[in-house]
Amino acid sequence: MDINLKEFEVWFVAGSQELYGEETLRQVEEQAKQIAAAINEQPQIPVQVVHKAVLTSAVGIRELVAEANAHHRCIGLILWMHTFSPARMWIAGLSMLKKPYVHLHTQFNRDIPWSAIDMDYMNLNQSAHGDREFGFINTRMRKSRKVIVGHWQDQDVIDQLNVWLRASAAWQDMQGARIARFGDNMRDVAVTEGDKVAAQIRFGYEVNGYSLGDLVEYVSAVQEQDITALVEEYEASYTLSDRVKKGGPARDSLLEAARIELGMRAFLKDGGFKGFTTSFQDLPGIAQLPGLACQRLMRDGYGFGAEGDWKTAALLRAAKVMAAGMPEGTSFMEDYVYHFDPQGMRVLGAHMLEVCESVAAEKPLLDVQPLSIGGKADPARLIFVGAPGPAINASLIDLGNRFRMLVNKVEAVTPPEDLPRLPVARVLWDPKPNLKVAAAAWILAGGAHHTVYSQALTAQHIADYCEIADIEMVLIDEGTDLDEFKKELRLNEIYYHIAQGI
Ligand code: MN
Repeated sequence: MDINLKEFEVWFVAGSQELYGEETLRQVEEQAKQIAAAINEQPQIPVQVVHKAVLTSAVGIRELVAEANAHHRCIGLILWMHTFSPARMWIAGLSMLKKPYVHLHTQFNRDIPWSAIDMDYMNLNQSAHGDREFGFINTRMRKSRKVIVGHWQDQDVIDQLNVWLRASAAWQDMQGARIARFGDNMRDVAVTEGDKVAAQIRFGYEVNGYSLGDLVEYVSAVQEQDITALVEEYEASYTLSDRVKKGGPARDSLLEAARIELGMRAFLKDGGFKGFTTSFQDLPGIAQLPGLACQRLMRDGYGFGAEGDWKTAALLRAAKVMAAGMPEGTSFMEDYVYHFDPQGMRVLGAHMLEVCESVAAEKPLLDVQPLSIGGKADPARLIFVGAPGPAINASLIDLGNRFRMLVNKVEAVTPPEDLPRLPVARVLWDPKPNLKVAAAAWILAGGAHHTVYSQALTAQHIADYCEIADIEMVLIDEGTDLDEFKKELRLNEIYYHIAQGI
């Protein structure tokens, strides 16, 4: 399931009015086309940028918005007021608009031509005030949107657009997305629970449960030759332990893991699912906990959450779309064990088995080892250490009356020693600003033990996504002060309570 962001379009729309006459509007259109084409040609812009129109009337705006709402490849709009566009003409269109949009506050010419500037120039280049008129009506209508300021050839503007476009593409991808749950939440766990109906209303994805019997049918139907071919792929991709090599004592367990992977793939493909959850407490008919399968399905772009955690499964899918085409990895993750050494406090992140190989620093080792819980056969898994470098952990929780996103900036580091007896994939990180403050803030904000861990994405990707979803996001980073953070949580309680109404 390759994610190709070039299948998506963002529509570039300039605003103006009839007052200026045909010649000026022709120039506006020419320049808007040039900007849209230049942005489209930037290598890091992930989607197609399509110049649509210069809009000068309420009717034209409404028609374009209706078209954008209905267009399945259109992820949103880039809006720019080249000239003064009296903003009441935007009210009807903005009221109808269901797609995300960015207000690009730019100007065709970067510099003021000091010796040549005259009144014709002033009449044509009006975005400095035209965009303020447009900004007002958005604020007056309490519209959630991104504002990017700068010349359109400025690298920082392109970088900000890149981030926002990735968030918007993920948003579009999640509309109508289906998440499959094999089994329910792990018994008695609170944070992985939540309101699936509220999530569907807020984020656009649907979550549905399936019995393990549904999956077992697919696993049972897997053909021997497909298992052989998949194991050959394993052999080409990973280092196999002696136990799972041909003739090794756990070879049959590896073949069984391949059968489970093929069955899960077929089930997810047939149902058009973009994410799934498993539960180690609920595996009747499945011989071993699907570890390797989950790792490889994540690598291919599926969202995944363990122990029935559908919120993290959906968030991981969104993150996979945001990170599409980027070399760094993104995975399901869990804060597992602390290193409380005052010389450098660290978190060891892992899971029972399911960490995506995209975050690996090395070629993974494929092995079969016992799992101390669950009471099933020994499962296959990929074992590796995560690559060092900056990363984020993101967690979505359900506070009962709303969703909250938490993001913590971290720095992944190479473990100071080997961990030869730990047979799972793991990542060691230094949370910002430090473990004590980061963990206290995370716990006060109610963040889950499960996260989406990404070295590809920054906090800004998640912030843009939350802005589109119109949900709360709290950030824990170098600047976090616990007293201020507590105040922010208290103020957010009031703001979101009032802003969301009943
Ligand atoms: Mn877990």
